[in-house]
Amino acid sequence: MGELRRIGFIGLGNMGGPLAKRFAQTTPLVVFDLDQSRIDPIVALGAKAADSVADLAEKTDLVFVSLPNSETVKEVVLGDGGLSSKLSKGSLIVDMTTGDPNMTREIAKILLQMKIEFIDAPVSGGPRGAQEGNIAIMVGGSLEQYNRISPILRKISTNVIYSGELGSGHAIKAGNNLLNLICRLATFEVVSLLVKDGVDPETAVNTIQKSSGRNYATEITLPDNILSGKMNQGFTTSLMYKDSNVALNLASLHDLEMPLGTLASALLSEIGNDFGWQADLSTIALSYEAGTGARIRPKDRSK
Ligand code: NAD
Repeated sequence: MGELRRIGFIGLGNMGGPLAKRFAQTTPLVVFDLDQSRIDPIVALGAKAADSVADLAEKTDLVFVSLPNSETVKEVVLGDGGLSSKLSKGSLIVDMTTGDPNMTREIAKILLQMKIEFIDAPVSGGPRGAQEGNIAIMVGGSLEQYNRISPILRKISTNVIYSGELGSGHAIKAGNNLLNLICRLATFEVVSLLVKDGVDPETAVNTIQKSSGRNYATEITLPDNILSGKMNQGFTTSLMYKDSNVALNLASLHDLEMPLGTLASALLSEIGNDFGWQADLSTIALSYEAGTGARIRPKDRSK
């Protein structure tokens, strides 16, 4: 990997958008997304818009991607008119998608023959962590690659972590999200019980947050998105379901049973079917409310 100076960013959605914004504030940046409305706010900060993936590849040698899944990454990187068709030798692609570790290793192997490097650097902390500049970025690749890329990643976050060999960032991220899902559903289950028994939802969450049951759902999800009535976390049900399946597929490769993870993924699948796969993950609250009759969101007299 030589001196990488020309930075590109593809996939400017709920997650990629705020990450690209942080780059755009400190460094020249070329961006691309299929959705023009995602491009405009980054260009407003001084970034340049590419006309296509191939156009971006011609103008850059360090490309970050934040796409829905590894299948899309493979298409954008190796498909017709993909990054690999135009990137020069020695370029580096950094995959910030929550991806599948095995597909990541497969993509990297193909790119290696073209002398293009590929590493995984998924993130955790949601759009809020990206905006605040402290999102966890877990980097999978050689130590040499990590040492080259970490100063650049520190432009967008103070929380950059070396995960180990290629794919380990994606493995840890998938495991993290399965754990997040299990804790999230368990938290909604228990909060619903407490509300049913007459406890105020905010009191239940605040007290658990100061007690041994605290977790991301009591710290962030419930206070920020549900108890506030915002109901918009910026993370779709389909993406979380994909993440849980990446972890469960990894488990089956190792012949591991994952009873809690399997149950959590199945429960989320029901919620996706009931409330829509593109719905924000906050709809989990609606599902628990419908199932238990215990109102967790702020009371709205119109409903
Ligand atoms: P999103 O759906 O909001 O954004 C994805 C973006 O990719 C969209 O703007 C879409 O137009 C673009 N895109 C899709 N296919 C494309 C293509 N072929 N070429 C160019 N652009 C394309 O999703 P998101 O929430 O931003 O998630 C992105 C990744 O980050 C996912 O892998 C997700 O699992 C992960 N992630 C999300 C969050 C979160 O809280 N939203 C947190 C951590 C990780």
